[in-house]
Amino acid sequence: MAVLEQLTSEQAIALENKYGAHNYHPLPVVLNRGEGVYVWDVEGKRYYDFLSAYSAVNQGHCHPKIVNALKSQAEVLTLTSRAFYNDMLGKYEKYATELFGFDKLLPMNTGAEAVETALKIARKWAYEVKGISENEAEIIVCENNFHGRTTTIISFSNDPVARENFGPYTKGFIKIEYDNLLVLEEALKNNPNVAGFLVEPIQGEAGVYVPSEGYLVAAKALCEKHNVLFIADEVQTGIARTGRLLATCGNCTCKTKNCDSIPEVKPDVLILGKALSGGAYPVSAVLANDSIMNVIRPGNHGSTFGGNPIAAAVAIAALEVIQDENLAQNAHELGVLFRAELNKYIENSNIVKLVRGKGLLNAIVINDKEQSNKAWDICLALRDNGLLAKPTHGNIIRFAPPLVMNKEQLLDCVSIIISTLKQFEK
Ligand SMILES: *Cc1c(COP(=O)(O)O)cnc(C)c1O
Repeated sequence: MAVLEQLTSEQAIALENKYGAHNYHPLPVVLNRGEGVYVWDVEGKRYYDFLSAYSAVNQGHCHPKIVNALKSQAEVLTLTSRAFYNDMLGKYEKYATELFGFDKLLPMNTGAEAVETALKIARKWAYEVKGISENEAEIIVCENNFHGRTTTIISFSNDPVARENFGPYTKGFIKIEYDNLLVLEEALKNNPNVAGFLVEPIQGEAGVYVPSEGYLVAAKALCEKHNVLFIADEVQTGIARTGRLLATCGNCTCKTKNCDSIPEVKPDVLILGKALSGGAYPVSAVLANDSIMNVIRPGNHGSTFGGNPIAAAVAIAALEVIQDENLAQNAHELGVLFRAELNKYIENSNIVKLVRGKGLLNAIVINDKEQSNKAWDICLALRDNGLLAKPTHGNIIRFAPPLVMNKEQLLDCVSIIISTLKQFEK
């Protein structure tokens, strides 16, 4: 089969099934083009993308500014490794640390690598700064977390599908209920060996669980009281997705109007990935101030591709797009509209229980048993009606379109979603 031959959807799916490992269960649609809020399948049908590659494509598909940054940098220098300096990394580090308000950035490629990096930094900080005895450090994590797929990260997952038969597991993690300050305080109290508290500001993969008002602020205060690092995994919630530059936004320079009313939760360690590159390239990062980041010295940690000049150029462009186009504010406004429109429908619906979320990270809960196929069937019908979304955990469907959407497009999507759901009303 010639590489240039145009495959049909059936052919492309058959190839992946036969020659690819079956580590995903994709919705049957084969895409070969994307622009802004739209993607096209190989037969030429256009869809609204309501997943945005798990919030990696916040800036929209193939954003010209990001694509140009990628192309121009690819033509002059792609990779030096960190054995040598390159002239893009420092510029990017300066730009990103000033934007997010931290002293330093450690560049990696994927979200899971950045989470691993944060865990290593927290442990080293615990031994060298906090003074915990060797090998005693513990990190508090939350039930139903999603932080990636490495052996250490799945060690503290409680998703049996992600965990089973991948043991032995990494020790040193304490799992507590999410959005529960009492159990957090309990876990911190009388335990001098806690190095950090790793938390998602909104639990995305678990089904877009938004914690109670004030949870993050109070959790941060508890961490401070016990000299424990507050580590925010904003791989999915960051980069304007939830209507602010970061879901923990406080001390940042995004200047989104609705920022003022939100109390500051400045993480000690911030983990970014996904939309840090606008989906054009794998780029992730850990940010922290010197008192924490300086525990990392030459040879302690690294990555061949981390901090490469393409990644640096792409990330600067991707972050500029967020600000140039006011995407945080747009996500905030469209999110309010989206939930209001869906709530109007849900009042008289017996197929949808509720809609929840922040900014343009939202989910609906289908009124059915958790293990039914209803959410999957609804996603197939949405596909037929020109909108792509995916169930996350049984009966929950996540809705996370690119943030470059306009109001007219959003209302068009709302009407597609509602008319599709109506097909399933009893
Ligand atoms: C996607 C995600 C990760 C993992 O990122 P990868 O790039 O897939 O390794 C980690 N944390 C959160 C919150 C995520 O959503």
